[in-house]
Amino acid sequence: MSRIAYVNGQYVPHRNAAVHVEDRGYQFADGVYEVFAVMGGKLIGEQGHFERLTHSLSELRIEWPLSRAAMLVAVKEIVRRNYVQDGLVYLQVTRGVSPRDHPFPEHSESALVITARKSGPLDKDALRNGVDVITIPDIRWQRCDIKSVALLPNVLGKQMARDANAFEAWQVDDEGYVTEGTSTNAWIVTANGDLVTRNASTSILNGVTRLAVLEAAAEAGIDITERPFTPKEALAAREAFITSSTSHVKAVTRINGQSIGNGHVGGLTNRVLDAYVEYLETHGGPRTTDTWN
Ligand code: PLP
Repeated sequence: MSRIAYVNGQYVPHRNAAVHVEDRGYQFADGVYEVFAVMGGKLIGEQGHFERLTHSLSELRIEWPLSRAAMLVAVKEIVRRNYVQDGLVYLQVTRGVSPRDHPFPEHSESALVITARKSGPLDKDALRNGVDVITIPDIRWQRCDIKSVALLPNVLGKQMARDANAFEAWQVDDEGYVTEGTSTNAWIVTANGDLVTRNASTSILNGVTRLAVLEAAAEAGIDITERPFTPKEALAAREAFITSSTSHVKAVTRINGQSIGNGHVGGLTNRVLDAYVEYLETHGGPRTTDTWN
């Protein structure tokens, strides 16, 4: 069965899906994207993703290629046509095709691409199997709240992680605080037992999963402090984990080669994972979705 992609109004075989060489996404990384998780055939965090997309598009003054309602229909259609029960949807909007020139073109139509990919269902045991993280300097721009397709620093950071046999790299800002991973948000349980993640600002991408975890934890009676933390604090932490639409709530058991806690998934991380999964089953994603920076 062949995969189907949506490209500017048409459903086409994935292998033939292509955009023009003068698409500004290709030339200038002049575009934004979203990645939705699909679980049990349902789109997760639909409202959160669309509201973050609204934020990204409006900050970059890119027009919507379709109405939000029409885009949602296309997203669901791509899920359906690709028979995705569990997996992800990738959606990208660029400023469209125009002769290469830096300023915004006077006339261009925003371009829309949507693809979907299958994966296995959420596997709690696999998520509890901890991964390694390294710390690296954050060399990104000052608008990390925008989900831009300009991901070169993230690509370089993730490759540094791979080269170090680690799963993720936690980026550290000029003041010496962890911002986030290259494609995930960062969390620790401090030596005192406080669950900490960096507050939303222009220094991080406010994850839809991060928001779901904040709400799920609140509902489960787990306190969270939103503030920056240092790599030193992370190394002394009892527990650590990362969150994203593809990694869900994934335990981190080593940072820069040093074991965190007893080197196994922590008790609070387990509770958060359970609360998160239950929350998604009940609410399908975060309910408060209006804070993107
Ligand atoms: N931070 C960065 C830099 C990301 O690229 C992502 C996801 O791609 C996240 C955090 C997590 O966001 P979400 O939970 O919406 O997937």
